[in-house]
Amino acid sequence: MATKRDYYEILGVSKDTSADDIKKSYRKLALKYHPDRNKDAGAEEKFKEISEAYAVLSDSEKRSQYDRFGHAGIDGQYSAEDIFRGADFGGFGDIFEMFFGGGGSRRGPRGPRRGTDLQYELYVTFEEAAFGIRKDIEIPRTENCSACSGVGAKKGTSPKRCPTCGGTGQVRTTHATFGMQFVSTTACGTCHGRGQIIEFPCPECGGSGRVKKRRKLTVNVPAGADSGLGLRLSGEGEAGEPGGPSGDLYVVIHVMEHRHFKRVDYDVISELSISFPQAALGADVMVETLHGQVKMTIPAGTQTHSVFRLKGKGIQHLRGHGKGDQLVRVVIKTPAKLNKEQRGLLEQFEALGKGKKPVEDGKSKSEKAESGKAKKSKGIFGKVKDAFEG
Ligand SMILES: [Zn+2]
Ligand SMILES: [Zn+2]
Repeated sequence: MATKRDYYEILGVSKDTSADDIKKSYRKLALKYHPDRNKDAGAEEKFKEISEAYAVLSDSEKRSQYDRFGHAGIDGQYSAEDIFRGADFGGFGDIFEMFFGGGGSRRGPRGPRRGTDLQYELYVTFEEAAFGIRKDIEIPRTENCSACSGVGAKKGTSPKRCPTCGGTGQVRTTHATFGMQFVSTTACGTCHGRGQIIEFPCPECGGSGRVKKRRKLTVNVPAGADSGLGLRLSGEGEAGEPGGPSGDLYVVIHVMEHRHFKRVDYDVISELSISFPQAALGADVMVETLHGQVKMTIPAGTQTHSVFRLKGKGIQHLRGHGKGDQLVRVVIKTPAKLNKEQRGLLEQFEALGKGKKPVEDGKSKSEKAESGKAKKSKGIFGKVKDAFEG
């Protein structure tokens, strides 16, 4: 297989044969040499040769290329796959599949590359995430140079076909092992697979076709958004190569911490300090929520770390209807400082709790404490108090 035979010769036709007659000749030869029918040694190679000749001569563009430049005009311009691709082989099954297997990935001049995706970290407050907000952001990104429309060539000039690869963007290397010839295709080093080189670079972008810009965009953060939510802004990433699409911009939401609220799914968690008498006797208290102040009833006998639910006072569901709840955890605050009267009352309360006197309806504040018990209690209380307050 040192030199390729002439395609017309292979098909047994002359240079001026019509497309129809080329097809007829191909069908006749293909029937004779198809590997399914002909088990002779060399039949498959022969069939491939016929198919290649037909693939070129049945394609008017490839045929004229071949007529002008011979095999060099085909081999320099098309990969092995591209020679066969698109040809109508009639009823002979998928020739492409037969020779290259599995459909194959598209080679040949590389298509315009899509722009890179970008990511932007957007910080929003707790309330902004809960209620949704429109945020103006500014992203640095590359765009196509307006002076050269992204081509990279100076105005009035145009890129030249790469002389190394002839514009295909790839080079073929051939080597022979055990009498068989292997052809491999790699990206052309001269033009980096583009098939073109720029002789006169655009002064605006230096020939890259790209310029750095800061672009202003408005991002719609939906109500109910939480940290980690990604919003895709289609086509707002980096510019692609000329003719190629832009990448996408992914905005990732980060919700900042709130001084009072935490969030679990769509529920808001908060803590509320109440006094010991409020816990013991019950009380109506005002609770701060995302939706304003709300009255909450603390029942008598509430223990510390009890959790109360304020229905529907949480966060709007991101998709669908309804809101979460607010969960209020009460913490009973122990007074750090007592005046004489308060201390007296507590001592009295403690003494009553030890069973010295029955308490009626919790209205025992004015009762006198039993002195013995009160003194013991005072001792411990006082020590702790002194340790903290000196
Ligand atoms: Zn430019
Ligand atoms: Zn090249």
